[in-house]
Amino acid sequence: MAVSVATLGFPRIGPRRELKAALERYWAGTSSRAELLAAAAELRAKAWARQKALGADIIPSNDFSLYDQVLDTSAMVGAIPSLYGWIGGPVDLDTYFAMARGAQGEAHAACGAGCMHKATNVPAAEMTKWFDTNYHYLVPEFAPGQAFALSSTKAIDEYLEAKAQGIETRPVLIGPVTYLKLGKSHAEDLHRQALLRALLPVYAEVLGKLAAAGAAWVQIDEPCLVLDLTAEEHRLLAEAYAYFARAVPGLKLMLTTYFGGLGDNLDAALALPVAGLHIDLVRAPEQLEPVLAKAPRDRVLSLGVIDGRNVWRADLDAILDRLEPVARAGRSIVLAPSCSLLHSPIDLAQETALDAEVRSWLAFAVQKIEELAILARALNEGRGAVAEALAAAAAAARSRRTSPRIHDPAVGARLAQVTEAMARRNAGFAERRRLQAEALRLPAFPTTTIGSFPQTEAVRKARAAHGKGALTDAQYEEFLREETARTVRWQERIGLDVLVHGEFERNDMVQYFGEQLAGFVFTKHGWVQSYGSRCVRPPILFGDVSRPQPMTVAWWRYAQSLTDRPMKGMLTGPVTILNWSFVRDDIPRALACRQLALAIRDEVVDLEQAGARIVQIDEAALREGLPLRRGEWEAYLRWAVECFRLAASGVADRTQIHTHMCYSEFNDIIQAIGAMDADVISIETARSKMELLGAFAEYRYPAEIGPGVYDIHSPRVPAVEEMVELLRAARRRLAPEQLWVNPDCGLKTRKWPETEAALVNMVAAAQAARAEA
Ligand code: GLN
Ligand code: ZN
Repeated sequence: MAVSVATLGFPRIGPRRELKAALERYWAGTSSRAELLAAAAELRAKAWARQKALGADIIPSNDFSLYDQVLDTSAMVGAIPSLYGWIGGPVDLDTYFAMARGAQGEAHAACGAGCMHKATNVPAAEMTKWFDTNYHYLVPEFAPGQAFALSSTKAIDEYLEAKAQGIETRPVLIGPVTYLKLGKSHAEDLHRQALLRALLPVYAEVLGKLAAAGAAWVQIDEPCLVLDLTAEEHRLLAEAYAYFARAVPGLKLMLTTYFGGLGDNLDAALALPVAGLHIDLVRAPEQLEPVLAKAPRDRVLSLGVIDGRNVWRADLDAILDRLEPVARAGRSIVLAPSCSLLHSPIDLAQETALDAEVRSWLAFAVQKIEELAILARALNEGRGAVAEALAAAAAAARSRRTSPRIHDPAVGARLAQVTEAMARRNAGFAERRRLQAEALRLPAFPTTTIGSFPQTEAVRKARAAHGKGALTDAQYEEFLREETARTVRWQERIGLDVLVHGEFERNDMVQYFGEQLAGFVFTKHGWVQSYGSRCVRPPILFGDVSRPQPMTVAWWRYAQSLTDRPMKGMLTGPVTILNWSFVRDDIPRALACRQLALAIRDEVVDLEQAGARIVQIDEAALREGLPLRRGEWEAYLRWAVECFRLAASGVADRTQIHTHMCYSEFNDIIQAIGAMDADVISIETARSKMELLGAFAEYRYPAEIGPGVYDIHSPRVPAVEEMVELLRAARRRLAPEQLWVNPDCGLKTRKWPETEAALVNMVAAAQAARAEA
């Protein structure tokens, strides 16, 4: 039986982020609905044709989205919260984008003034991360007694659209159990079985229409199968797929799982009456044998052998060594990426400026499909048929194993000398606190900010001009010094206690460090969708990491020279740099993180040597690195915390180490947060009204905490009394001498006027708290 190649989804943003441009033009009102839809259709057509030309046999449709595939699913089943004023019928573009981005002000254009069709001032639906990726989806929201009805025919339309272009596709749907699991409800007990029973007829209707339109297969994504599931969830899966088998008996379903192994869900997954199963063999290679042993002979197995989540070229011979026996055994198999290619940059061929050697180790979405085509040919016709391609892949793998660009013996030697003591401060917190209080002489409720100040148009323009060579190094430097000086003096003037330099010289909190560390490269077009039109270009950590020279000391020194108040040194922590980069797959993540930790440690020590009394090490992304399975949390947290401590513990006890985390879920990781042993942690709390401090109180968190007293995500200026009230709430949970006063996060996305007003009020709130104490 011939082995075929499938892709489970292709990046939709376009090789030059065409979708971003089209969306932003439409949102700005400078292009029409028809223009937006035409741009989208063109991107789809090109993606289909391209995948076909690259050798994919099974090409997805409905993997495209104007914003988000989970939002598309909500539109498909008509799960539109009432606040969007939707009155049934096909979900229109205004409603769709109102859910995606919120809507303000404008009346429904078609009806003119006085239109009551749309709620005109509505917030966007909540957004959160898609499993352990950096892709964000819009959280479905279910009302009590939620009903569902087919409200978008997008899946069918796009199938037919491809067909009209001569391309037979396999439509993609998010499975009903995953969809429900991702959703939330304000009703006290969200009754999932009732919701599922209401949902299944709509899914069956879509599947039926797809079958009627000619689809032989549908890819139905149930990545929830790699999570810890309850017995009830297993029952929901069984009910759903039994329903589909009855309702659309002729249609073949490729039950698609990714981002991990099926583990203890394997039997439940294999028991479902579907024609095919896709498994992720990159994250969970060990599941191949049990799946082969247990899967019914007629189940088509889709083997995710090429990494859809990372950028490395695969070792094709090694994959073939594993696949050949499977193919020989007469199993019907499909080769695929581990997951949708949505999470890969699109095309390495665009990276003409990238170092040639590093480039030879990489594969983006386009190259990954080529790899799959080579593998399939090798299985179908023998390795000889693709000897040249296999030799090239082997040569790349060999050079990656041995290149001195990657392997730096000095880094290995240094790691070998790391002792346990290096990840420990000398004294315990109580003693450190005494020494630091003496060194710093801060008032009660000390005030500070998280680091960045507004990245204004002027700052961005100057950076761009410098990048293009229109500003010389000296001119740009002068500009940054002026911005920094103005910001330092202003902080001093309004009475902040611990100052920051403002981070004007930084493009991004990870990239800035990556660009100065050995072991990283950066792409020009390696964009990956984060949400909607937003894309990120993660740094590529390809080799052993070291810090050739100080990265932030000069800016710190300049800023401190302008004031007598303590100037915080400001760094991004090793775990966050790791979690926001594409990371090498030839060594364990923990080891790559330890290398980063040593590099950051060097910087912390240099800052102290230069005179810094406080150094902040941001770990904004520590929590999001948590594995999908609870059973793996402990191991992750152990090395993540150890890496932070390794970075932080090179200094004397009188040097105060701050950390910052911008999220508001600590209950389940509070012990790890405690184990980080920072002297001060600032966290996001304004929107939760200090509630999350309960976790710190219960745990008897000993050190100091800066619970954010205002939300920096909105331009709204908080009143003094509001922040005083939040500080009172904080004092009910923690001792007053534990508390710092700061915003929730950095201020880079804000404008100056609201920043000034908010911080003046914040200082007044701290003064009021001192007076009350
Ligand atoms: N120091 C960074 C800033 O202020 C922290 C940003 C973050 O935590 N996301 O911008
Ligand atoms: Zn933050």
